[in-house]
Amino acid sequence: MIDERHRAALLDMLGDKGVVSDGGDMAGYQTGARYDAGIAALVLRPRTTEEVSQTVAYCVRHDLTIVPQSGNTGLVSGSTPDTSGKQIVLSLDRMTDRFDLDLDNRSLRLDAGFRLSDINSRLEKHGLFFPIDLGADPRIGGMLATNTGGSRFLKYGDVRRNTLGIKVVLADEAGTILDLTSELRKNNTGIDWKQVFIGTSGAFGIITECVLNIEPLPKQVATAYLVPASGAHVMPLLRAMEDRLGAYFSAFEGISKIPSRRRSTMCHR
Ligand SMILES: Cc1cc2nc3c(=O)[nH]c(=O)nc-3n(C[C@H](O)[C@H](O)[C@H](O)COP(=O)(O)OP(=O)(O)OC[C@H]3O[C@@H](n4cnc5c(N)ncnc54)[C@H](O)[C@@H]3O)c2cc1C
Repeated sequence: MIDERHRAALLDMLGDKGVVSDGGDMAGYQTGARYDAGIAALVLRPRTTEEVSQTVAYCVRHDLTIVPQSGNTGLVSGSTPDTSGKQIVLSLDRMTDRFDLDLDNRSLRLDAGFRLSDINSRLEKHGLFFPIDLGADPRIGGMLATNTGGSRFLKYGDVRRNTLGIKVVLADEAGTILDLTSELRKNNTGIDWKQVFIGTSGAFGIITECVLNIEPLPKQVATAYLVPASGAHVMPLLRAMEDRLGAYFSAFEGISKIPSRRRSTMCHR
C-alpha cells in the first residue's frame, strides 16, 4: 500500500534486508504483545544511526508517517501501525553492532536494538547487569522511549535514572542527528536535553544509541512470598521491610487475586 517509487527509493537506501514488504514477513511487526493488530505499508530496518537519519529525512520530505518500533512489547498500541495501511514501521531490530563496555566507569555504550536479555547475558560474565527487570524482553531503545520501571524500581529506579547519554535522530527534513552521549556521571554543563526524549515514546525523535549505568550483580538473592491478611496490612509491611532490610531491599510486588472464572478453570486441571 505504498507508492512503488517510495519503496524503490527506500530499498536503494537500506538494501534487501532493510525493507520488508511481504505480508507474511511483516506480520510480527504489525501485531503487538497483547492487544494490537494493524497493517503496515512497509517495514524498514536500518542498521546504523546514519541509515535511520536518511530514512527519516526521506519520509519527512515525502510526508510518510513512521511508527518507531523496538521490542514491540509495549502495551498501549504505540509500537504498531494503525489499520489504514499507510504507516511505515521503522524497526530498530538490526541495530545491534556497537556494544562497548567500560569496566572502570561501570558504563555501557550500545546501539538501541539490543534486547534486555542479550545485554544481561553479555554483562553476566563480568559480574554486572542492567538493573531494570520486567516480565517482557524489550529492546533498549524502546525501554528508553517508555522509561521502563520494572520490579526493581525501589532500589535502582527507572531507565531515566540509569541513562548517562543518548543519540537521537530528529523528525525533520534533514534527519538531524543529535549526539547527547556522554560517559559523565555528574554533568552540570547545562540543560539535560536527553530527558526530552526519555519517556516520550518517540514523539520528538528516534533514539539510536545510548550510554547506560550498569550495576554489580547481587551475589545472593532471597525472595519471600507473603499473604497479607488484608489490603490495610500492605503499606505497613512495605515500611517494615524498608526499615529492616535497608539497601538490600530491591523489590516489593503485588500479585492480584485470580478472577473467580479463571480460578475454577485452574481447579479443574
Ligand atoms: C509481560 C509484560 C510485562 C511488562 N512489565 C512492565 C514493567 O514492569 N514496567 C514497565 O514500565 N513496562 C512494562 N511492560 C511494558 C513494555 O515492556 C515496556 O514499556 C518496554 O520498555 C517497551 O519496550 P519495547 O522495546 O518493547 O518498545 P516498543 O513496544 O517497541 O515501543 C514502545 C514505544 O516507544 C516507541 N519507540 C520504540 N523504540 C523507539 C526508539 N528507539 N526511539 C523512540 N521511540 C521508540 C514506540 O513507537 C512506542 O511508542 C511490560 C510488558 C509486558 C508484555
